[in-house]
Amino acid sequence: MSEETDKGVRKNAKHKASMEKQKSKVDARIDEADIERGVAILLTGNGKGKSSSAFGMVMRALGYGHKVGVVQFIKGQQLSGEEIYLREQCPGVDLYQMGTGFTWNTQDRSGDIAAAEKTWAVAKPMLDDDSYDLVVLDELTYMLAYKYLPEDDVVAALANRPVQQSVVVTGRGGGSALQEIMDTVSEIKEVKHAFKAGIKARQGVDY
Ligand code: ATP
Ligand code: MG
Repeated sequence: MSEETDKGVRKNAKHKASMEKQKSKVDARIDEADIERGVAILLTGNGKGKSSSAFGMVMRALGYGHKVGVVQFIKGQQLSGEEIYLREQCPGVDLYQMGTGFTWNTQDRSGDIAAAEKTWAVAKPMLDDDSYDLVVLDELTYMLAYKYLPEDDVVAALANRPVQQSVVVTGRGGGSALQEIMDTVSEIKEVKHAFKAGIKARQGVDY
């Protein structure tokens, strides 16, 4: 056997041993995880990918025929691909958007609060309805950050939701009380963003 081939064989054997070790560790953890219940997920941080990840889970859930509710706490001027798709192709998904009353430019705090409360009045019953398998509360964190909604009420509704229901909350910040009650918290870090290099937001990718 040439020196090169010998080196290759040893490298393969080492890789195999390392993979086997890793697999047994993962298998042990899979065996340990025996709690069957819905999960509460918070997707936060400054990087791109929070809402798009949430809509990825909507697609997963729909694949299994699960019942999904989506409430968006900010309505941009622009229509989004996910909104068009859900409205046109997924009549079974209950989609609600905060809509009028909230814009970054109004400077109308009481109007914003009224809009937030109206939207929460749609979201809260979903968190109390065990027919929903998945509830997405997109951009909810800002309602807490601006104190448009009472944190206690939101946190309690999330924590006391039906056992088998999963919930995904997106948005930057959100605070420690929220993080505390969520099962999975991912902070998406911005390493780079195309926008900062002058590349325009892209249809089908950014909205
Ligand atoms: P996405 O909806 O693409 O997953 P997101 O939910 O993580 O993004 P948001 O803060 O909700 O982020 O921003 C919504 C819009 O702003 C999207 O068009 C997204 O591409 C863009 N965006 C997200 N992060 C950044 C960033 N760090 N700099 C500039 N634009 C961003
Ligand atoms: Mg978002």
